[in-house]
Amino acid sequence: DPPLLEVRDLHVTYGGGSGGVPAVRGVDLRVEAGQKLGIAGESGCGKSTLALALLRLLPPSARLTGEILLDGEDVLTMKWGRLRAVRWAGASIVFQGAMHSLNAVHRVGDQIAEPILLHSKATPAAARERAGQLLEQVGLPAARAAAYPHELSGGQRQRVMIAMALACDPRLIVADEPTTALDVMIQAQILRLIEALVADQGVGLIMISHDLAVLADTCDRLSVMYAGRVVEEGPARQVYADARHPYGKALSAAFPRIGDLSSRHAPRGLPGDPPDPAALPQGCTFHPRCPVALDACSADDPRLRDAGDGRRAACVLVEAGPDGAPPAPSASG
Ligand code: SF4
Ligand code: MG
Repeated sequence: DPPLLEVRDLHVTYGGGSGGVPAVRGVDLRVEAGQKLGIAGESGCGKSTLALALLRLLPPSARLTGEILLDGEDVLTMKWGRLRAVRWAGASIVFQGAMHSLNAVHRVGDQIAEPILLHSKATPAAARERAGQLLEQVGLPAARAAAYPHELSGGQRQRVMIAMALACDPRLIVADEPTTALDVMIQAQILRLIEALVADQGVGLIMISHDLAVLADTCDRLSVMYAGRVVEEGPARQVYADARHPYGKALSAAFPRIGDLSSRHAPRGLPGDPPDPAALPQGCTFHPRCPVALDACSADDPRLRDAGDGRRAACVLVEAGPDGAPPAPSASG
């Protein structure tokens, strides 16, 4: 069987011709059913563009190349009718900031029932009943179906968003900053809910966040993005505890452990700013901020390579895998 999701050499460029701005530059990803992949990086690293690209939700100015294989079927070449079905039943997205994604003038139960009506043969009564069940599944009373979004708290609205994402039994859920707007206690509840849903239903999860600690706590594997590329990947806890790439190290240092809520302040600043995608530095794109950069780093752009133990990193200082073997293509990806 093909993996649930396989992304191969995905590029996303905004605008055409020589003025095109590269937002995603050759990303490979793989998610199996029941697996949770975290994608980390600062704002502007391309992670939200990547999430939207997975379901072709980007504006028409975005040019996409590569392959996005969902159950072996390429999302990039799908016809519109098929794509609409796949957006609910194949893969579903929970966006950041639930308030912006719920319609203020409709009851939340109707908003959950709507995709069920559109994408199945359910009667209106059956769709309403299913909406109530979904609300209970995400920890809300079925009677909350009658509420309007403004009558719910931020955490409750995020639960409704998750119920909507689950409405058509998707095989993959993509959650972009699903908890960022919530306070720490509610954030933890929502993360446990997402984890339980993945475990119970065997769906795949891609969770996107700037907060490496949240991802390390929730996901099986982590990909760290910088300037449109994955610069480090591997088992989540290992990447967080002992990053190989200097950017991965800086990002973990910026986010203290999630378990220790009392010490969880605003991220300790990373030095400098991420590069402008329209004017990327030559060589390693991290070199202007890298505390251990060598002279050669402003000339040579390292690619992801095997760093042993199921890990890969894109840095000249990262030693090759065991025996100094040449990089194994996609050994862990
Ligand atoms: Fe730093 Fe050089 Fe490694 Fe880039 S390649 S992360 S600049 S040491
Ligand atoms: Mg974003």
